[in-house]
Amino acid sequence: MKRIVILGGGFAGLVMAEKLSKKLKGEHEITLVSPRRTFVFYPGLVRLAFGETDESEVTFDMVEKLQGLNVRFIEAEMLHLKPELRRVQIAGKDINGHISYDYLVIAIGRRLATEKLPGFFEYAHHLLGIKAAKKFNTAIEDFEGGNAVFAIAPEADLPVPVIEAAFAFDNELKKRGNKNAKLSVICPGEIDEAFAGAKIHSELKEAFSKRGIELIENWQISEVARTKLIAFDGRTIPFDLLMVVPTFRGQARLSENGITDGKNFVETDEFLRVKGIDNAYAIGDIASFEGPKLAHMAVGQASIAASNLASELKGDEPEEVYFHEIASIIDEGGGDTIYLHYGIWDKSLYRLKSGTMWSYIKKIHDKVWKMRHNGSWIDLGA
Ligand SMILES: Cc1cc2nc3c(=O)[nH]c(=O)nc-3n(C[C@H](O)[C@H](O)[C@H](O)COP(=O)(O)OP(=O)(O)OC[C@H]3O[C@@H](n4cnc5c(N)ncnc54)[C@H](O)[C@@H]3O)c2cc1C
Repeated sequence: MKRIVILGGGFAGLVMAEKLSKKLKGEHEITLVSPRRTFVFYPGLVRLAFGETDESEVTFDMVEKLQGLNVRFIEAEMLHLKPELRRVQIAGKDINGHISYDYLVIAIGRRLATEKLPGFFEYAHHLLGIKAAKKFNTAIEDFEGGNAVFAIAPEADLPVPVIEAAFAFDNELKKRGNKNAKLSVICPGEIDEAFAGAKIHSELKEAFSKRGIELIENWQISEVARTKLIAFDGRTIPFDLLMVVPTFRGQARLSENGITDGKNFVETDEFLRVKGIDNAYAIGDIASFEGPKLAHMAVGQASIAASNLASELKGDEPEEVYFHEIASIIDEGGGDTIYLHYGIWDKSLYRLKSGTMWSYIKKIHDKVWKMRHNGSWIDLGA
């Protein structure tokens, strides 16, 4: 019996645990290590901030689900990897010490490099956790008028919630009959660059201008002051309400193992095996891939890594190769949506559609996802 240790309990780690559990049928021991037992459905946090859903709809306790899958859960965080000993040093409520593995899956997500944006914690709102989304909700409720700014910081690999929050805020103000606000979306480069070069500028620009939202491109935030944003070139933008997605980085503690790129994301081969150490896979936001970091990528990577790891356990070579693509639905609210399907590694794959249908698909998809993955809901089988 081999020991498989999964680090991280987000989209990538949880789906990896599910897929492996089904494939391995109890023949090997699977352990998932995460500092929190709560799974957060991040794409639901825009709706949480705008009071369209509540916390219980966007979180669930993973432990019961994992028990049902025969996966051991350890509430702890990884401190150091010791690949030469096939051990991980962990610290937390359950264990302070080392656990050994035969195969390792690194799925610990990205780090918010807030140190790169002075003033972020003091003056900006964000949507990168439940508490932050609730705090933003209070600020939205208290907003009476002025400049509302939604910004993507340089190297923040997540444009979708910034864009969706701007649309949602516009819809909210219309509901209230509030006409005293000016809304802007700030992007560090061209908006297409935030989607790995996919041509989405015209659709977004049209959707923004229909609502009077200003799209400000090539504006790189360097600092947040109490009432204004400051760019690297000295320009400023005043705000009364600010939401920012800060710069993303990988996890610095992995750089000591020589497996990370210049931003501390973990480098992999086409089978998603970690380059530079044996018997390890990296999936989800922590993996080093260009372009935005999205949940569907984490889920797809988990599926591929699970197949390849299962092959290795049978003594076969891994066969499933990863293809990097975006499949994203941007919800404008009120039923309008933009759907983008784009092959980051094959630019001939390009579909861009607008319409109401995608809004329903996104809502149904989110619901079915939770039904499938939350043990306390009906398990439809992943
Ligand atoms: C507001 C918001 C809206 C979004 N909207 C969309 C959307 O509409 N569509 C879409 O596709 N994507 C969306 N995303 C992106 C998506 O949520 C991420 O791509 C996805 O969560 C990545 O999954 P992951 O498992 O790699 O990382 P995460 O979900 O971040 O999970 C990482 C896990 O690792 C754990 N961990 C961290 N450090 C350690 C450690 N040292 N040791 C052990 N465990 C550790 C964490 O506790 C967590 O359990 C959105 C994200 C946000 C924040």
